[in-house]
Amino acid sequence: MKICVIGSGYVGLVAGTCFAESGNNVICVDVDEAKIEGLKKGIIPIYEPGLKELVLRNCEEGRLSFTTDLAYAVKESLVNFIAVGTPPGADGSADLQYVLSVARSIGQHMDGFKIIVDKSTVPVGTADKVRVAVAEELDRRGAALEFDVVSNPEFLKEGAAIDDFMKPDRVVIGCDDVRTAEIMKELYSPFMRKSNRLIVMDVRSAEMTKYAANAMLATKITFMNQIALLCDLMGADVMAVREGIGSDSRIGYDFLFPGVGYGGSCFPKDVKALAKTAEECDYDFILLKAVEEANSRQKKVLSDKIQARLGNGGAKPLAGKTIAIWGLSFKPRTDDMREAPSVTIIERLLEMGAAVRAHDPEAIKEAKKIFGDRITYSTNQYDILKDADALAIITEWNEYRNPDFERIGNLLVQKLIFDGRNLYLPNRMKQAGFEYLPIGRNGKV
Ligand code: NAD
Repeated sequence: MKICVIGSGYVGLVAGTCFAESGNNVICVDVDEAKIEGLKKGIIPIYEPGLKELVLRNCEEGRLSFTTDLAYAVKESLVNFIAVGTPPGADGSADLQYVLSVARSIGQHMDGFKIIVDKSTVPVGTADKVRVAVAEELDRRGAALEFDVVSNPEFLKEGAAIDDFMKPDRVVIGCDDVRTAEIMKELYSPFMRKSNRLIVMDVRSAEMTKYAANAMLATKITFMNQIALLCDLMGADVMAVREGIGSDSRIGYDFLFPGVGYGGSCFPKDVKALAKTAEECDYDFILLKAVEEANSRQKKVLSDKIQARLGNGGAKPLAGKTIAIWGLSFKPRTDDMREAPSVTIIERLLEMGAAVRAHDPEAIKEAKKIFGDRITYSTNQYDILKDADALAIITEWNEYRNPDFERIGNLLVQKLIFDGRNLYLPNRMKQAGFEYLPIGRNGKV
């Protein structure tokens, strides 16, 4: 099948590459010339495990190409995926300017029947807006061409994007036309080996499904974060509680790890956008508002703990202190820093007068765009510990799970670790002489 994917970011590039891997001819489009030039030379603009090899192979085999020429890509393709960003607008609603601008461009350049697929996460009703935008452009040109608009939200996770796309738990197709649904089914059939869950539904329900999924996951994380705070106050161990409740098949173990709050390019903006959608219908979605508020507070928990343990009072309670940070990206196996809890934590530490040094296996380049030279960086996780007053763990990269504790103890001024991801066993840390402060595991600090 001939496909174009417009927007070559985390979703577009992965989707386009995986569609090429299953034998389709795919053109990936982007407005970012540097990104496209790089991709043509095999330079992958994001860190995503396994992506580079797939891109190179499919380019070599002639199934995958890159261009900034949207008109050419649309003319060449039957299925046109829109995978551009939908960042939060000033009022929290999803900003649809990029999606609608692509829709207008498709309308300007299409020359026959096209299937236009909303792959970006977009609020209920967006497919209608896309339809209107395309139709207006066709009218302007006096072109009577048929097209169909499909909602096909993406559920991949950064860090495991290729696997998620190749072996999805389910694919959701929102489509009102039988013929188009058959084409979409054909396109996705190679990915239906793990589960044959290709769910076809009406367009609005498909649009809602994506937001409902992310809002549910954000709520689950936030619920456990709140239980963790209560555990700290009551002397209970949240990890034991997790074992206890996760074993209930109605609850399950996933997304019950307490931490420093959810971040990333999806949960924060999608929770906000769904709350905004509700508001527009005069519906007070009180649960979602509470999730958002609780998550903003959760992002401050680690810096509050650091202040409580090391602060000297005054306007700059951490003046003269150095905090070493392990982990900057919003989660492991990605370089994505969008809405990362590390940003809130580090900004607060800096406000409190601390000097901050940071390590991350992949996100330092992105972090430099945010913090510049206000903090220092190292690609060696131990270098930043020398004479630091404490180590704070923000992202659960694998290299932090089993580190050389003796070395850590020798490098730090004192054996003090704040663990925002509960990576270690409190008893073992105690035996090794560390003062260890995780989330929800050993009482109030
Ligand atoms: P991204 O910012 O990584 O990529 C978007 C790309 O679109 C950029 O490269 C940008 O240059 C390009 N672009 C913008 N306007 C364009 C235009 N007019 N023509 C061509 N290209 C254009 O975004 P992303 O993380 O890939 O997210 C894309 C969408 O997918 C969002 O709606 C997001 O919510 C959703 N989504 C993201 C994830 C994720 O994990 N990142 C998962 C599921 C769904």
